Amino acid sequence: MAGNGEIALLALGSNLGRRHHCLSGGRRALARGGQVVVRRCSRLYESAAQGGPPGQPPYLNAVIEVVSTLSPEDLLARCQEIEREFGRERRERWGARTLDIDILDFAGRVSGNPRLVLPHPRLHRRSFVLLPLLDVAPGWRHPLLGKTASQLAACLQDGGAIRVLDEEW
Ligand code: AMP
Repeated sequence: MAGNGEIALLALGSNLGRRHHCLSGGRRALARGGQVVVRRCSRLYESAAQGGPPGQPPYLNAVIEVVSTLSPEDLLARCQEIEREFGRERRERWGARTLDIDILDFAGRVSGNPRLVLPHPRLHRRSFVLLPLLDVAPGWRHPLLGKTASQLAACLQDGGAIRVLDEEW
């Protein structure tokens, strides 16, 4: 049960439909089969949609730390399967979505493969990723920038409107 697995950090977001249901259902679905074990969860956040088409509803956001015996590629495939299960339709880039799951980090690996860029290329600039990440792994170090999550959060300039919605989800 993911005993010898590697640690990965995942970001979950939803701004369409039953947002809470999608986030907690997505987390549960990830753990199905035992190859992914959820170790820590951030609090639940709500943030204003950034970029993308105007007038989008706000997002629910969270970050989880998992232990995975799946390879990074297989974990991504699992995440995408679950996004589909929760009804995500890929119509436009950065458009509204019922469930988005991104791999922020996989055991400190670095990859420039566009199918799976590691660490996630935009994570250090987004408060809706870094603030929940601080809840689960404040000492996590960005494999390329060498800074901890706390140091990166102190440099945030995206001005993103974000608040804690709940302690648990
Ligand atoms: P998005 O629509 O923003 O979820 O982006 C999904 C696309 O980004 C997919 O084609 C993935 O293969 C690709 N991708 C690249 N790096 C990552 C990553 N670290 N986590 C999730 N998706 C990624």
